[in-house]
Amino acid sequence: MKPLSQLAAEQALSVRVVLTDIDDTITTDGMLTASAYASLEALHRAGFIVVPVTGRPAGWCDHIARMWPVDAVVGENGAFYFRYDRENKRMHQHFWATPEELRLNRQKLNDIEREVLASVQGSALASDQSYRIADLAIDFCEDVPALPEAEVDRIVSIFERAGAQAKVSSIHVNGWFGAYDKLSMAKTLLSDVFKIDWDTAREQVIYAGDSPNDEPMFAAFPLSVGVANVHALAHRLKNKPTYITHGHSGEGFAELASILLKATSQRSPARV
Ligand SMILES: [Mg+2]
Repeated sequence: MKPLSQLAAEQALSVRVVLTDIDDTITTDGMLTASAYASLEALHRAGFIVVPVTGRPAGWCDHIARMWPVDAVVGENGAFYFRYDRENKRMHQHFWATPEELRLNRQKLNDIEREVLASVQGSALASDQSYRIADLAIDFCEDVPALPEAEVDRIVSIFERAGAQAKVSSIHVNGWFGAYDKLSMAKTLLSDVFKIDWDTAREQVIYAGDSPNDEPMFAAFPLSVGVANVHALAHRLKNKPTYITHGHSGEGFAELASILLKATSQRSPARV
């Protein structure tokens, strides 16, 4: 991981799309700071396509797509994207699974939930579970005292034994049925909505994250950035981000935004 300050000016100039994790990447200690939110807004105003790509639930994503200064949101680790058409006042929702598949998957996830809560002491159902459509989120660090890593691994293995995928964020283990992740749904969104093919995406997209559930994105995008707290979970990452910020969490995201905005401001006069 190279310091983000080493990002070449021409690479910063090539960025059109900012994809970003939310928890501990935009938020800091569980809160959305004014400076991180202002960075999102400044990027959006400057014409970047801005898309949070998060493990957070559909209920939150409805709010984010509608009210945040973003162009769309990918939620529940890639189960769907939501895009609010402000002009026509319409929320577009695209899910990986059909309603019937989602219903059947929920029954299997309910079984996993019972097993995890009965066998991993100190784990809890994530407080945002009621607002989820496709996945099951087990809290190991958000509203419960942090569990040891071996217990986090046990939660993951219960999901995997049941044939589900499981990914670890900085606060939850999220599990689901279906061959999708943050990356596959981000690709679908880029192609369907923004008409950006994969070769172009690899040049024009920058991704910011902090955790193992960001790993598919770190692996896929040459311009990938970890905020400084990624160090804490780096031993769980086979694919690390190319760059790392100096600042933690939201401060790291603000640092990335300011580099991109500076590059854009230097480009503008040359275009006139
Ligand atoms: Mg995160």
